Amino acid sequence: MRDLLMIPGPVDVDAEVLQALSAPVLGHLDAGFIATFGRALKRLREISLAPSAQPFVVSGSGTLAMELAVANLIEPGDRALVVNTGYFSDRMAHILERHGAKVTHVRAPPGGAPDAAQVEAELARGGFKLMTVTHVDTSTAVLAPVESLLKVANKHGVLSVVDGVCATAGEAFHQDAWGADVYLTASQKAVGVPPGLALLTVSPRALDTWRKRKAPVASVYADWAEWLPVMEAYEAGKPSYFATPPTSLICALDVSLGQILAEGLEARFERHRRMARAFRAAWSALGLRLLPTSEALAANTLSAVYYPEGVDASLVGRVKAQGAAIAGGLHPELKTRYFRVGHMNRVTTGDVLVTVGAVERALHSGGYRASASGTAVAAAQAALST
Ligand SMILES: *Cc1c(COP(=O)(O)O)cnc(C)c1O
Repeated sequence: MRDLLMIPGPVDVDAEVLQALSAPVLGHLDAGFIATFGRALKRLREISLAPSAQPFVVSGSGTLAMELAVANLIEPGDRALVVNTGYFSDRMAHILERHGAKVTHVRAPPGGAPDAAQVEAELARGGFKLMTVTHVDTSTAVLAPVESLLKVANKHGVLSVVDGVCATAGEAFHQDAWGADVYLTASQKAVGVPPGLALLTVSPRALDTWRKRKAPVASVYADWAEWLPVMEAYEAGKPSYFATPPTSLICALDVSLGQILAEGLEARFERHRRMARAFRAAWSALGLRLLPTSEALAANTLSAVYYPEGVDASLVGRVKAQGAAIAGGLHPELKTRYFRVGHMNRVTTGDVLVTVGAVERALHSGGYRASASGTAVAAAQAALST
């Protein structure tokens, strides 16, 4: 029997998305594919709430999406500020440095996030070209205060790149209204498609900065100059070739983006909030502590929860034996001390109850007795009933 897949990506995807993947492979010059790709690009712009942005859909993972942003916006010697909330912020810094940026970090202890005042204090020193923020850092389940961070970046005329890989289409984000220059994600998290696509929406200001570069982009595959004509052509209903697009995955993406828009973005954000609240009620009923240091910083797309006293990482395997696949820790300083549960994309009340029940049974089977059997499921039920 198949376990419920509740890791923070890849996530379970809808049957219609899978069906799109099982259709005969289309060529990239096929009229049906051209129409589908064009529609998917328009839909990506809608998902990011970025009517002015240029969408890019490129074969690769979320890490490529990060590199597609950095490689095009950074020239050697540029200064970048990394708002650091964990493992994926560190990865962004690593990519920035590889492309020649001088990186300054504004960090918080694991589970925290720098606030706008701390970031502004650094930006006010001047000289920064770019600020990066990890919308939800999947290693800590910290939801960064991205709207207020973008406000200070814009006040200081600094470009912004927001890593939405564990957030886009799950956490509220208004790219144009909030003034983000690049919002990037991958197909396999809240966007609800199997792994394999890097997705970006890029502001006119960022494209302008890229056009004025002096140094060439240090990667052919990551150069917007190769991809922009392709994206523009497909959106205009014409084919164009740089490197073969993953036609089947793009058809699946179009289906999923269509479903997301049919649900409605606000309704979808609210469903993620509601499921996350139910999980938090369950963790609290079990006497467990979250990594995020406040409710406001707790992501709605996943939970990161410390093991209680006397319980170790073997819990992950015991939860699997109870029917739900969850993940261990990822933050280098703490990874043996907590577990993670993804709750994004299709997540339903049923998934919440099955997962909470599996964690509760696994804890009890391991001898953990801080709560009576059924307490956590009841707490989740109560949260879902309000
Ligand atoms: C998963 C993730 C990435 C990396 O994506 P890959 O598809 O694994 O390359 C980057 N940033 C965040 C916030 C993520 O959650």
